[in-house]
Amino acid sequence: MEKTMYVVSACLIGEACRYNGEASLHPLVKELVDKGQVLAVCPEVLGGLSIPRPACEISGDRVITHDGLDLTDAYKEGAKKALDMALDAGCSRAVVKSRSPSCGKGVVYDGSFSGRLIPGNGVFAEMLVEFGIETITEDDLEVIWGWDEDA
Ligand code: SF4
Repeated sequence: MEKTMYVVSACLIGEACRYNGEASLHPLVKELVDKGQVLAVCPEVLGGLSIPRPACEISGDRVITHDGLDLTDAYKEGAKKALDMALDAGCSRAVVKSRSPSCGKGVVYDGSFSGRLIPGNGVFAEMLVEFGIETITEDDLEVIWGWDEDA
């Protein structure tokens, strides 16, 4: 049987690509890597942003820094590149980093930089969902782990 391919937020496999220069390695994601089922992408780095970089939040239809700098174009460009890579690799499922303005799925910070969360998706997660890729965050992995018999 052909293996299911997952597109995964690169920070979850241990790449130190987060805005603060850190990684967010998740042990269950690492298991998928070891099974050869992962394409790792960092949409923000693909969009040309540096490591480290200013923290951003989604505010309406824009992505902004705390100082009000508008980085929406870089976020969109990186998300599109990451999506194209995922489609080329035949990924049908995604595991993305929770609450990120790129990768977050279901809830994101509200744009006030106060730690408040609101319903919504990051720029990349939104594209994944639009293109029919089944998308969850690392927070949901244990809940859904049994749902993939060939994982
Ligand atoms: Fe991780 Fe996604 Fe942020 Fe890159 S853009 S550091 S993959 S959450």
